[in-house]
Amino acid sequence: MNPEERGCCEPELIFELADGGLDPERRRAVQNHLESCPECRELYERELGLNAFLDSFELSVPRRSGAVSRGVAMALPTRPIKARLLWSLLAGALLTVALLALELNGTNLVVSAMGALGMLWSFAEGFADALQNALTAAATPLLAALAVGAGLDLLIAVAVFSAARRARRA
Ligand SMILES: [Zn+2]
Repeated sequence: MNPEERGCCEPELIFELADGGLDPERRRAVQNHLESCPECRELYERELGLNAFLDSFELSVPRRSGAVSRGVAMALPTRPIKARLLWSLLAGALLTVALLALELNGTNLVVSAMGALGMLWSFAEGFADALQNALTAAATPLLAALAVGAGLDLLIAVAVFSAARRARRA
């Protein structure tokens, strides 16, 4: 299975080469191919740089996790983008909570839920009021900050994703 017989460009082999996971025969074949294919050489150098970067932060735990996660890693020029995506999800969740807090401003849901516990009623009411006041006061600046942050992160992630896809199709 020489990559040149398949008309070149087997990203899996490039990643295996960068990780040192190829047997000598295939390694030579891929290295030969790299010399004649700038696209694969760029991928190889990027993966090498990425490996060095990950090693320097000791984030190399899932390195041997197989083709699926490699496919995901390939779509992302830098793996820390994943952290950005996670942050966007978190920001989205917080945004929803903050929106709910605003929506429920008049109905005092916390108090109604706690109302079943009659003995705790007055304590719950005071606590809920304080909580609601704090949430309401915090909600507006929080909303603005989260909306901007989440929006920016999503824009960056989308731009990077589509750029990486175009690069792979080219
Ligand atoms: Zn190639």
